[in-house]
Parts: sequence; C-alpha cells; structure tokens
Amino acid sequence: MRKFLWINPVASEMYGTPELKEELAKKGFEIVTCRQDHIAAVKKKYRLAIETAHTCVADMRCPMAVSYIKKTYAPDFLEYPDIEPILMHCARELHERLSGKGFLYITTPCTALRELGNSIGLPKVRFYTWAEFAQLEGIPLRRKILDISPIPPGFFAEYGKQAGVLDSREKIDLHFSSLPKPTEKKVLELLYCPRGCHNGDGV
Ligand code: SF4
Repeated sequence: MRKFLWINPVASEMYGTPELKEELAKKGFEIVTCRQDHIAAVKKKYRLAIETAHTCVADMRCPMAVSYIKKTYAPDFLEYPDIEPILMHCARELHERLSGKGFLYITTPCTALRELGNSIGLPKVRFYTWAEFAQLEGIPLRRKILDISPIPPGFFAEYGKQAGVLDSREKIDLHFSSLPKPTEKKVLELLYCPRGCHNGDGV
C-alpha cells in the first residue's frame, strides 16, 4: 500500500532538510502538499463569521487555546464559529484527493491538533505529532530553532485595533482574568503556545 505523508509547515521549516526527504523516500513515503489556498479560505470564513457576529469572535485555529478558555474562564461574550483549523482543511483536501490510493499520514505541531484530527475519523488517515511520527519511523530529530512561526501571529491584521492578539497562555490568563466585561474587539486571535506553533508540544 502506498504511504503518503503531509509535513505541516512548522515541522517542514524545522526539520525539512534534503537528507530528511531522502530518508523518508527510502522508507517508502511519498510527500504530498495541498493545492488549495486554505489560508485564504479560512480567512474568508472568519470574515463572514465576524460580519454576522453579535459579540466578539474567537479564533478557533488553536484547539488548546479554545478549550483552555472555555474551561478556565467560560466568557459569555465570545462567539465560537464552527470553523476548523487550517490544518484540518489541508487534511480534508488530501484525504479527498488520495482516497483509495493508500494510507495518509498527517503530521501536526502539537498533541491538541493530533487529537482533533484523529477524532474526525477520516478513513485511512492518521494524525501524529511530528515528534511521534519521527519516533515511530526512527527518524532522528535534527531540529532547527525558529525565531518566528511560519504562521506568525497577525492572522486578523486586516481588522487593525479591532483584533486582539493573545499569543500565549500567559496573555490569555492576563486578558480574561482582568477583563470580566465584554471586550470591544471584533475578533480575538488565540494561540496557546508563546508566539505560535513553532513552540508546540509536538515539534
Ligand atoms: S499554538 Fe500550540 S497548541 Fe495551539 S495549534 Fe499551535 S502548536 Fe497547537
């Protein structure tokens, strides 16, 4: 059976050397990429959610941040649109394109996205963090330290001051523990890991 592998952009920046590609090819993996612009598609979905929202829209791209806020603060002034993280959009496109041709491995930068991915139950698709995948396949982790994430904070920059950015758990805590009243922002960008996914628990 063919084995397809999608390396998420964070792992790709941190580990994507020519040696890695050779190693993966020797192990029978075919590296696949998305053809659709999922960043643009997700932005469009948020524009619509923000246009029709009654209060402030929560960024749903980081499942860890969303579940932490719901559990710890349960603010009644946030709306949670039904928009999947960008990585899930990529996985769905690849699943649709490669369905019936082999097994698809999707790598994630963190356990939260891995859990979300596996919970969807796409047939012949399995989600692993990059660290788990590397361990499973006996691939050494030759990590390049990144100063900034390939998907840095600023996803809602077009909203200027109407977009808040909470790009760490500390900032989330500070914001929600000191703001018991509704926020004036239209949207809150939410990332659990400091400055983004290059600091996730799976890379
Ligand atoms: S910020 Fe961290 S927890 Fe959130 S999606 Fe990125 S890697 Fe996962």
